[in-house]
Amino acid sequence: MIKNIRKLERRKKIALIAHDNKKKDLIEWAIHNKIELSKHSLVATGTTGKLIEEALDQPVVKLLSGPLGGDQQIGAMIATGDIDVVFFFFDPMEAQPHDSDVKALLRLAVAWNLPMACDRTTADFLMTSRFMQEEYSYELPDYTHYLNRNI
Ligand code: PGA
Repeated sequence: MIKNIRKLERRKKIALIAHDNKKKDLIEWAIHNKIELSKHSLVATGTTGKLIEEALDQPVVKLLSGPLGGDQQIGAMIATGDIDVVFFFFDPMEAQPHDSDVKALLRLAVAWNLPMACDRTTADFLMTSRFMQEEYSYELPDYTHYLNRNI
């Protein structure tokens, strides 16, 4: 059986998303990790991206605002291999108008076996992993059975 291996380069494509109540947290965390983040390419949902860009003085590819389709754009980029690592500080205490989009993003990250941190502590662990600075290869889940199912 041919294994489907995905190789991440040293320079990672990082997605950053924060719900409104978590934006302050993510910005503080990003400032704290400014030097590390400068070694990678950043993409973010619209408002988060604008704030990160201002805080880090580093270019960020800004997608649509999350509730207006940005979360879905990130989800699609995860599925097409255009994002390597996700930092998504979501708000566990408040329902979002785009809860279904949030759920879809989280599901796709897991479906594609992507490293993802959803709180600051996990973000610290992930950011300090040696794999953030090295090439890293991993096996993609095998969905052949699903794709070839009898219908
Ligand atoms: P925003 O979107 O960065 O545009 O605020 C974040 C989200 O709620 O998904």
